[in-house]
Amino acid sequence: MAEVQVRKIEVFDTSLRDGMQQPNIDISVPNAVGLLERMAAFGIDYAEIGFAGANQFVNDLAVALEPADTGVMKLALFGRTRGRGARVQDWPDAQFILRHKKRVPVAVLVVKSRLLDVMKSLETTPEENLLMAYETIAFLQDGGMEVIVDLEHAMDAACGRRENGNPCDLEFRQRSLDYFHQMIDQCARQKVTRIIACDTTGGANPEEVGELFSSLTKSYPGADFGFHGHTDRGFGIANTRAAILAGAVQIQGTLIGTGERCGNVNLTTVIGSMQLRGEAEFVTSEALTGLTSLAHSAYTSFGLDTPHSAPIVGPGAFGTWAGMHGSSERKNPGAYLWCDPTKVGAIPVIGVNAQSGKANIILLSESLGIPLNSAQAQILVDNNQAMMEGDGYTASEVSFKLACMKAMGTLRDSFSVKSWRVIDESDVIGSRYVQASMLLSIGGSTVTTTRAEGAGPVDALTKAMRHELEKWYPSVAQMHLGRFSVTAIDVSAQDTAAHVRVTISFHADGHESWTTAGVSSDLNQAALMAIEDGFHYWLLMNPE
Ligand SMILES: [Zn+2]
Repeated sequence: MAEVQVRKIEVFDTSLRDGMQQPNIDISVPNAVGLLERMAAFGIDYAEIGFAGANQFVNDLAVALEPADTGVMKLALFGRTRGRGARVQDWPDAQFILRHKKRVPVAVLVVKSRLLDVMKSLETTPEENLLMAYETIAFLQDGGMEVIVDLEHAMDAACGRRENGNPCDLEFRQRSLDYFHQMIDQCARQKVTRIIACDTTGGANPEEVGELFSSLTKSYPGADFGFHGHTDRGFGIANTRAAILAGAVQIQGTLIGTGERCGNVNLTTVIGSMQLRGEAEFVTSEALTGLTSLAHSAYTSFGLDTPHSAPIVGPGAFGTWAGMHGSSERKNPGAYLWCDPTKVGAIPVIGVNAQSGKANIILLSESLGIPLNSAQAQILVDNNQAMMEGDGYTASEVSFKLACMKAMGTLRDSFSVKSWRVIDESDVIGSRYVQASMLLSIGGSTVTTTRAEGAGPVDALTKAMRHELEKWYPSVAQMHLGRFSVTAIDVSAQDTAAHVRVTISFHADGHESWTTAGVSSDLNQAALMAIEDGFHYWLLMNPE
């Protein structure tokens, strides 16, 4: 049997341009530089850093990128064709792009390819739009740039759709299609390096995309085509796959699917889902093992949590919370997985919560090297109802480990909180006094009281605990609190009596950071549980 040739497909990331149109995200210039360096190391071929001259961010980023190591990845700037009646030499987008050409050698020009948009949005003639595209492409090419053309609304132009996805009448549909091909023909003759068909509205389906790419690759054998997809109908990944299978050489999207409306196509999903099944090759198989960590650093850089259900890179992607699946996985690893998680650098998760049952507790404890027997697992369940029901152990493996050790009786009694109290006095003019005090048992013998003031209850509780523990365990001075997050659970049913889950990350120089969790109907209690686990874990790692 002949070996099937797996094609190498270029990946073009537009997280820092199209992706930034999502309202709830933000990225700093240093984080953007760091992310671009990681993308380059992973093997992304092109990365668009912004819209030419659109804002200060693009300017600052272009400057900050000067010394950055982005390897062979090509940086790109996005711009418009010259305006109606303007001289291309005076066009600000083109000037901005050329000014940065040494560090950013690729120009992505957005070109209106649907007759309807030429008439209604640009308010110009079809001929003038062709000339605007022609002159801008030629000007940038003469200036030494690689030019890629993004054909806006290409899928709707090819499929005869107008506003709101409604069909055009037959006559206009044909005229629109003829114009679309006139534009492609012109771009092909100008030898732009890639012609990108955009599904700007996200309204296409895989059959339409497959059909268009088959016909484009046949009709323009000298040109190279790519696809830029959006996820409005939920078909973005399937559309991108269809474009690749029908001959696209490049795909455009955003690393983690950020973008306006429902987002751009998520590149980590396309890369993982197709490469793991041998349908295309985007990066080396060695690089692919960095997919999960690249995605996580992208979520962090944009200030987002990784969605539990994100395909391939989400915390739930290779997890099992169902007790029955958990025990089957033990007998036959991989029975419930679609691929080998190690190939994308993921670790299969055995989830522990109210649904997962004792089987998963035993399984997870075994995988962590602290195997519980059935009776000990029952003790863990009985003593930690709120943590089980509130997904505290899904949020923190560290807290689960500590709970296992307590159930087995192997956790050293370095300290425990016997009782605690928080005084929180506020008045109408904004004065506030917060003090926490607690009774601590140290090493199972000494009982001592400690108190501290703080900016808020969590701060005061942490300070009070730290104040006393430092006297007995000086290494505690090296550890610090990082991110602190609170999630209310089941508010609709419980109203203000709902449980809250607090997760806290800790860090210390020279140590990997660790996260702990607490669940309670009281916010301070939940925070204290997480803080206690944070200190316990540190003392476990650094026995004195
Ligand atoms: Zn787009």
